[in-house]
Amino acid sequence: MSRYDATKAELAELLAAEPAYRVRQLWDGLYRQLAAPEELTVLPAALRAELAARPELAPALALVTEQLADDGATAKWLFRLADGEQIETVLMYSERRCSVCVSSQAGCAMACSFCATGQGGYRRQLRSGEILEQVVRAARAAKDAGRRLDHVVFMGMGEPLANFAAVWRAIEGIVSDLDLAARHVTVSTVGVIPGIERLAAAPLQVNLAVSLHAANDALRNELVPLNRRYPLGALMAACRDYVEATHRRVSFEWALIAGVNDTPRDAEELAGLCHQISAHVNLIPLNPTPGYPVLGSPPAAVRAFRDTLSSLGVNATVRKTRGREIAAACGQLAGTAGRRVAAPARRAAAPR
Ligand code: SAH
Repeated sequence: MSRYDATKAELAELLAAEPAYRVRQLWDGLYRQLAAPEELTVLPAALRAELAARPELAPALALVTEQLADDGATAKWLFRLADGEQIETVLMYSERRCSVCVSSQAGCAMACSFCATGQGGYRRQLRSGEILEQVVRAARAAKDAGRRLDHVVFMGMGEPLANFAAVWRAIEGIVSDLDLAARHVTVSTVGVIPGIERLAAAPLQVNLAVSLHAANDALRNELVPLNRRYPLGALMAACRDYVEATHRRVSFEWALIAGVNDTPRDAEELAGLCHQISAHVNLIPLNPTPGYPVLGSPPAAVRAFRDTLSSLGVNATVRKTRGREIAAACGQLAGTAGRRVAAPARRAAAPR
């Protein structure tokens, strides 16, 4: 248990000896002010001290390092959990948006060949409080910088749909308690079909991103081993059902790997799948990782791939690689403390 696992009823139980309005004050402190119990000056000092000492209200995350990149527009945090596991969270400012990329598991069991987290293996599920607190930390940092956090993407460490219950509870907290729009929450999956089915039936309209990376089973089996369990035909059927049930668009993630999945033939195959469900494509050049000695496609190949898709009537966005110098780019979040560099002393500048 930690402070963002507790329900309102559980907070009320902790405060049973206090006047009823204290529950509202503590709740507002945690979810509106994004503050720790000891910071809540609205509470009497003795109560603050008492609450700060309650194990149920302990923070789930202890900051190990903060690394900044892109002139302060990207901040990567390495957090230690109560049991010593480590996860990473990335906060990104752009002109219009302020997004946080959260982890849903410590490590990951999906073993995608090109992904740093996958190369490191699975450690454990995160609890909803551990996920929600990442969002709260980001929202607080943004607030302190005069910005407002408005997007959450489940593209950090782990496979969110392999930890459905905790992820869903965190999403409910993000939407009802932190007041972010469900349509600004994106769940990214490698293609866990039962999870896609549950998401389709769930009451909040969050976005679904599917990490495709290959549009034929032979190549996808290699890049994304889960494809052997849930091959493309079944995955596409699940995506179709999802679109029908939610009337929302699915996006496909495609990490462009030089000479592996960036040929005109790949673009044509991908376009064929996109047409089935009117999917949008997010292209990102692969970030090299230690365990997969292949490079990302060079800029000209990225443009050519996008242009081929476009000539076939498929919309594709080339995503900017963020935080390359601090290994905060997607798939590089491999929280092993030994490989860390100390955080720079400078604070995030939060450019607009
Ligand atoms: N497990 C989920 C969410 C985490 S990964 C999923 O796979 O979707 C978030 C995105 O980063 C996925 O699209 C993933 O395929 C991509 N990714 C992983 N490693 C990468 C790398 N080295 N370069 C570029 N993208 C990568």
